This record gives sequence, structure tokens and C-alpha cells, in this order.
Amino acid sequence: MPRCKYCGRMLYWIRTRTGASMPVDPVPVRYWDTGSEDRVVLQDGETIACRLYGEKGKCAGNGYIPHWSSCPGADKARRKRA
Ligand SMILES: [Zn+2]
Repeated sequence: MPRCKYCGRMLYWIRTRTGASMPVDPVPVRYWDTGSEDRVVLQDGETIACRLYGEKGKCAGNGYIPHWSSCPGADKARRKRA
């Protein structure tokens, strides 16, 4: 499995519906369809606006968190400050 060059974490790549490859965190998470402030990518490449927490037993499924939203290194690079 490849690693992120910014933070050294393992990456998992998903091909999105648009044909692009998106790096995601390799561990799937549960998501709920009761909100839209978070994003997950499904195994089939569909990106979903969702919420990453909710009532137990009512989650809508499993998805992967896009790595750019959790990568501390990419965040640092994007903001261009130490
Ligand atoms: Zn990273």
C-alpha cells in the first residue's frame, strides 16, 4: 500500500465516478445521512455528503474519508505556514 508523502500514513485509492483517483484513509468509517457537513467516498467511487456521527444502529453505510480532509501534512502545505 502506498504512503502519503506528507504525513506517511497508508493510503487507499478509489476511482471516482469522474475517473479520477482519490486517496482516502484505508479504514472505512460509518456515516449517517442526517447531515451534509462531512464527505465520504464509497467503494464504487461515489462521493456522499453526510455526517460522520449519529444514532447507533441508524447509520447509512460504510465509506472512506478523503485523505485530504484528514492529512495534517497536506493541510500544512495548503495553508503555506509552518
Ligand atoms: Zn497525508
